[in-house]
Amino acid sequence: MPPTAAPENWGEKMAEEAGDWDPAAFEEYGREVISLIREHFETIRDIPVAVPRDPRELRTSLHAELPEAGEDFSRILADTREKVIPGLVQWNHPSFHGYFPTSASLPGVLAETLTAALNVNSMLWQTSPAASALEEVVLRWIARMAGYPEDADGLLVSGASLANLYALTAARDHALDFDVRERGTAGPGVPTLRIYTSDQAHSSVEKAAITLGTGLANVVRVPSDERYRMRPDLLDEAIRRDLAAGLRPLAVVATVGTTSVGAADPLGPIAEVCARHDVWLHVDAAYGGLYRIAPSLAGTLEAPAVGDSLVVNPQKTLFVPLDATALYCRRRGALANTFRLVPEYLRTAHEGDTRDFMDLSPQLGRGFRALKLWWVIRSFGRAGLASRLDRSVGIADWLRASVSRHPDWRCPVSSSYPLVCLRYEPEVIRDDDRLSEVRRREVTDALNARILRAVNASGTTFLSHAVIRDGYVMRLSIGNIRTVRGDVERAWGEINRIAEKELAELMSLEAWTESA
Ligand SMILES: *Cc1c(COP(=O)(O)O)cnc(C)c1O
Repeated sequence: MPPTAAPENWGEKMAEEAGDWDPAAFEEYGREVISLIREHFETIRDIPVAVPRDPRELRTSLHAELPEAGEDFSRILADTREKVIPGLVQWNHPSFHGYFPTSASLPGVLAETLTAALNVNSMLWQTSPAASALEEVVLRWIARMAGYPEDADGLLVSGASLANLYALTAARDHALDFDVRERGTAGPGVPTLRIYTSDQAHSSVEKAAITLGTGLANVVRVPSDERYRMRPDLLDEAIRRDLAAGLRPLAVVATVGTTSVGAADPLGPIAEVCARHDVWLHVDAAYGGLYRIAPSLAGTLEAPAVGDSLVVNPQKTLFVPLDATALYCRRRGALANTFRLVPEYLRTAHEGDTRDFMDLSPQLGRGFRALKLWWVIRSFGRAGLASRLDRSVGIADWLRASVSRHPDWRCPVSSSYPLVCLRYEPEVIRDDDRLSEVRRREVTDALNARILRAVNASGTTFLSHAVIRDGYVMRLSIGNIRTVRGDVERAWGEINRIAEKELAELMSLEAWTESA
C-alpha cells in the first residue's frame, strides 16, 4: 500500500494535539539544563561534597501535593536547583573519595540524554538492531581492556551485584547434572550447593546465595592471607572437605579489587584448584578489572581469562554514568542455556547470527546502555582512559608516601589500585601505657570513626570506612575523572586538621582512657 500523502503542515498540526512538550520548548529548557550542568562543573570545587541534612527537614522541604495541573518547567528546574541538588552527596565531585568513585564524564552525560530521547529497548535484535550491534562492539572493547576473550558471551547489566547473581545462576545450572530449569531445586536427590569466596568478598555474593536459595550457610568464606588475598590452599581444603561430605561446589568467586582494601585474589592458583575439582570460577573484577590498562600497573595484574565468567564495572572505573556493568562468560552458550526462554510474542525471524540480549539474563526490557560506553570510549580512546586511570594510581602513591612520612598516620595495608586505607594512631595514644592493647584499639577505632564523621560533615571531602584486621580504617578511593593531585593534597590537609582537633577534644576529657 503506498503511503498516504500528508496534507500540508500535517506534522505541526498533529504535534499541537499531542501531549508532549513542543521540541522547540525542549531545546529552550534543554539549554537551561545544560547551562546548569556547565555551571555545576565550573564551580564544583566551591560546593561542598556533602552537607549533613536533617532527614525530616529535607522531606518537609520537598513535600508537595500531587500536582493536579501541570507546572511550568522553570519552577520545576528552580526547585531542583534550590532544594534537590544541595541535598545530594556529590558523587561526581573531584573530592568525593568514599566507597568507589563512580564518575560520569561529560560525553557519558550527553549520551544519557540522547539514549533517553531514543528510548530504545534492547531486548531483541529486531527491536534494536544498531543498539544490539553497538553492545557487541563495546563488549569486545571492554573485554580486550580487561584481558578476557573477546569472543566470550557478554552483556551489559545494571550493576555488578546482579552480574554476580546471573553468573552464579549459570554456574548452578552447570554444577547440577539434571535439568534444574525444569525441576527446580526442591525434591530428593538435590545436593547441597556450596559457593566459595574469600572472607573479603563483596556482600553481593551472599545476596546471590540468598536469591538463588542456596543459603548464606552455604557460602564458604575462605580465609585470606596477611594481604587480604584468598588462600588457595585453604580453598582446596574446603572443597575437598565438602566433596567428602557429599556437598556439591557451585562456584568459586575470586575478587580482583576487594571492597575493603583493594586486594586481588591470586587467580592462577585459584584457577588450578577449580580445574582440579572441575568447579566454575567466577571472577568479580568489578573494581580492579579495568585497571589492567593503566601503564603503571602493566604486568602486575593477572589476566582474568582463567575465569569461566567475569564481571567488570565501567560505571565504577571507566567514567561512564550509572549504570553500566559488563558480564562475560567464556563458556559459550551457558548464559543462554540458563536464561533463554522465548514466548510466542517475542519470537522473531532470526537473520544470520544475530544476538537477542534478552537471552542472556532474566531482564527483558533493557535500556540502550551501549551508547554511553561507545561515546566515552571513543571520546578518550584506550590510551586516554589508561592515562586517566594512571593519574589516579599516581595520586594514590603520592598520598601513601605522605601518610607513611607522618608519625601519627599509618596505611595498614597497601593496594595496587588507587584505594588508600588510612588509620590515625597518634603517639599520645600509641605510647600511653595505662591502656591495655584491647583498650588502645577501641579508643583508636572510636577516634578514627569520629574523624571520618567530622571530615564528611566538613564538606571538603567524603570518605568511607572499613573494619579490617588492624581495626577501623578510613578509605580514600581516588578515581573521579576530575580529581587532580591538588584536590587530594587539600583533602589530606583537611583530614589532618580535623584529626588533630578531634584528638584534642578527646584529650580534654578527663577520663579519656575510658571514653570512646
Ligand atoms: C562495587 C562492587 C560490587 C557491587 O557493584 P554494584 O555495581 O554496585 O552492584 C560487587 N563486587 C565488587 C568487587 C565491587 O567492587
